Amino acid sequence: MTTSDPLSVAAEAARRFLAGVADRPVGSAATPAELTAALGGPLPEDGVDAARVVADLARAADPGIVASAGPRYFGFVVGGSLPAAMGADWLTTAWDQNAGIYVLSPAAAVVEDVAAGWLLDLFGLPASASVGFVTGCQMANTTCLAAARNAVLRRAGWDVEQRGLFGAPQIEVIVGGEAHVTIFTSLRLLGLGAARVRTVAAVEQGRMRPDALRDALAGGTGSAIVCAQLGNVNTGACDPLEEIAPLAHGRGAWLHVDGAFGLWAATSPRHRHLTAGAARADSWATDAHKWLNVPYDSGVAIVTDSAAHRAAFTATAAYLVKGGDGRRDAEDWTPEFSRRARGFPVYAALRSLGRRGVAALVDRCCDLARLMAERLRAVPGAEILNDVVLNQVLVRFRPAAGGDAGAFTQAVITRVQQDGTCWLGGTTWHGAAAMRVSFSNWSTTAADVERSAAAIAQAARGGASQAGRGRPRGSLPPRGRRAP
Ligand SMILES: *Cc1c(COP(=O)(O)O)cnc(C)c1O
Repeated sequence: MTTSDPLSVAAEAARRFLAGVADRPVGSAATPAELTAALGGPLPEDGVDAARVVADLARAADPGIVASAGPRYFGFVVGGSLPAAMGADWLTTAWDQNAGIYVLSPAAAVVEDVAAGWLLDLFGLPASASVGFVTGCQMANTTCLAAARNAVLRRAGWDVEQRGLFGAPQIEVIVGGEAHVTIFTSLRLLGLGAARVRTVAAVEQGRMRPDALRDALAGGTGSAIVCAQLGNVNTGACDPLEEIAPLAHGRGAWLHVDGAFGLWAATSPRHRHLTAGAARADSWATDAHKWLNVPYDSGVAIVTDSAAHRAAFTATAAYLVKGGDGRRDAEDWTPEFSRRARGFPVYAALRSLGRRGVAALVDRCCDLARLMAERLRAVPGAEILNDVVLNQVLVRFRPAAGGDAGAFTQAVITRVQQDGTCWLGGTTWHGAAAMRVSFSNWSTTAADVERSAAAIAQAARGGASQAGRGRPRGSLPPRGRRAP
């Protein structure tokens, strides 16, 4: 393996992986010890041939690679990678641009500007909003809330960027009872505290209750930030922003929306109603690496008050050449300084899909979620726990012989994971275990849903010792066989 160059070896290994990703067992059963044995060992004293390093890595890592890019990975909300986005991502690596400031990569800066405009248009958000391309929605939430912190304290006569939070006026942070865990990490990073928030009760499906928000807002008079959500990770439910926005603004609060995947419903005429009122918020965090199907890492932070957004992040130094001619210096809009030109894959994904393609991707995933719910509803003992309004299906299984549905559901999840036809995870919903099935991959088909629903039904019938066997005909090869 010294005849080829490393890029050819990588391209060949990537093609082989992608050709087989739909057919390999979806999860990974490799243990840390096995992977360490294959990949570990002492640091070599002398270097190894580059092509060989890449070839060895492709082979040794393979058992630990999860087919989350494939069509039957329904865990978390992970998306996939559109071919155009992946191609652009490869080029981004080859170009190795530093997208921090314009002079380091004019092309990266302009492509980000273009992609930002397209995203605002797709989401129906104000064209004047500023956009930062960050690593994911965790950092998008952090970026937006940093802008929020700046703005609400500026209105209270306090420059938080210079003076910090020491002695600052209080900020009241109000979050929905179903806020995503990353909101709390963002609040911790920003000195706003994870535990001093006021939590607003949610209705059954996880949407924020406007009457409870009204009560929460009635108490205070000072600076306030309200964190709402589009797309509950369990149910897909979206907070009623049309009612929430006037309540928040009536009190002078900043309204932030965590729309990691739910904001994408705004791109679809069929699902846009779920996001009604979204344009009235002050900031929005979303992901491109989830529903837009670009490779990791890719999140988007959008802020209406671009002055507050810039104030939170801009840096100046004698050696930095910045600004002028409406040039975008990306570091003004993100917590990072030097960084990958992650706008290229976002641009490529949007251009390859077009407006209609983005909507079709969202609609197809939602249709597949409904199909899965329909199939699982027919499984004896299964109960669909959510209104399948978006791309998430939440289900619980009761054992035929009676007993604890939570423990049984957990056992079904484990059996499905061991079987390898598809992969999905568990959660706790209203105090008991539930199975989560999430759709966000461009390559998933109705046939994948049928095959996966059959595997889940089999697991629910209790084929504990049958894991990996007794698959429906035409199903996966046994674990361990190499993908073609
Ligand atoms: C996934 C998710 C996040 C975090 O996004 P990352 O891209 O993983 O950082 C935040 N909020 C919601 C609702 C999510 O689904």
